[in-house]
Amino acid sequence: MNDVFIGDDHFHDQCGVFGVFGDEEAAKLTTLGLHALQHRGQESAGIVTVHDGRLRTHRAMGLVGEAFTGEVLDRLPGAQAIGHVRYSTAGESSLRNCQPFAVDYAGGCLAVAHNGNLVNAIALTESLEARGSLFQSTSDSEVFLHLMAHHREGDLLDRLAQVSAQAVGAFSVLVMTGNGIAAMRDPLGLRPLSIGRRGAAWVFSSETCALDLIGAEYVRDVAPGEIVAVSSDWEGLRSRRMAPGPHGVRQCVFEHVYFARPDSVVFGRSVYATRKAFGRILAQEQPPPHGHADLVIPVPDSGVGAAIGYAQELGLPYEMGLIRSHYVGRTFIEPTQSIRHFGVKLKLAAIGAEIAGKRVVVVDDSLVRGTTSKKIIALLRHKGAAEVHVRISCPPTTNPCYFGIDTPTRAELIAANQSVESIRQFLGADSLGYLSADGLHRALEDASAASPDRRYCNACFTGNYPLPVESAGASNRCA
Ligand code: AMP
Repeated sequence: MNDVFIGDDHFHDQCGVFGVFGDEEAAKLTTLGLHALQHRGQESAGIVTVHDGRLRTHRAMGLVGEAFTGEVLDRLPGAQAIGHVRYSTAGESSLRNCQPFAVDYAGGCLAVAHNGNLVNAIALTESLEARGSLFQSTSDSEVFLHLMAHHREGDLLDRLAQVSAQAVGAFSVLVMTGNGIAAMRDPLGLRPLSIGRRGAAWVFSSETCALDLIGAEYVRDVAPGEIVAVSSDWEGLRSRRMAPGPHGVRQCVFEHVYFARPDSVVFGRSVYATRKAFGRILAQEQPPPHGHADLVIPVPDSGVGAAIGYAQELGLPYEMGLIRSHYVGRTFIEPTQSIRHFGVKLKLAAIGAEIAGKRVVVVDDSLVRGTTSKKIIALLRHKGAAEVHVRISCPPTTNPCYFGIDTPTRAELIAANQSVESIRQFLGADSLGYLSADGLHRALEDASAASPDRRYCNACFTGNYPLPVESAGASNRCA
């Protein structure tokens, strides 16, 4: 889903979806699943179930644990459920944009949970409104609900196949009707979506970490361009393939760099192992000056995997030089520059005894605006670090994402506007080194390393977008 703003090219998404079909405790299992996907969105959470042919819905601002108490779950009976966690740092973060979107209408009941971003949302919205659709929200994800409502012929797969022909962009989406759930992934496969089994029940999840939590067995991923559906009208899982797009498969590399949880297997690869591989190759490409450092420390939690890989590759000691507070709510990390600075100190503290007098390599997964790193370096120096060498386990982030990762405007992306040397000066680091694009793809063991963007979307590092994106920021309907 995506909030869009007239005359502005901010994009604010990042979501997780989860669904259960065929278990009387569907809402409880979905709550657990959303807990495991909480990192994909902390702003709002929602679950829709079907009971006696009617939808039961609860959507609330805040974290899953706050939104879904025992009392709320008692009001969500039914053997099928879909759920959603949503993230947005700015723009309209109101209850009406919480997902899943759900309606009871003449054609039955319908609920939708979407992770991704449609680049043709404006055109679709305009044509749907011209045909009488009334939108409840300012989120592009609601388009799926209206498209489904317009396509009433055939079974769930037939209807979704027609919807898929009209949608352009990133969509890992769950659609629930009165008697089934369908899971669909766009032809580029930009965002992840996995299928699991728990006893007789089918489970769908953005990431495998949520399958593990509920004791579901991982079956396989929904393939790029595939629609799968389960229904009380038939046995087992049915599948249909959309026509492949001209750009092949372009799975989001940033899921591995930052977004996904390290215990997940995303696009067939362990996220943790991939991050360690990023760190190992980063160490080969960007060792500390003259190969000397006393200590490698991560920026927790996102830099841990890469820092371990970096330290192992060079045989350097690895320590936790920074400690992260897990009790800082998102409310403290408001999206204004001034409070962002303050927020870093609330989140991270340096352990003086470990770093005083040491030449420290600090490894983080990515630099976006550079403000977090700048603060961290000041913190490390304040605690007596002799040298601070910053290593980033991805290439410079030079372009905003239009496909489901929250990114600031190009103007705010430090690497879009400054050289590595001037970023180093801004950060106050003794040295700064990024993983190369080639190194990133080698770490992914990309069979197509010769044309590295064939299997992965790396547009945030290259500007090489797999779909035209001009329309996505040009004129937007809401807020
Ligand atoms: P910045 O201060 O803007 O450079 O923030 C960099 C930090 O933000 C890094 O530690 C990343 O782990 C983290 N980060 C990277 N991408 C995102 C994102 N899309 N949403 C939230 N945090 C992010």
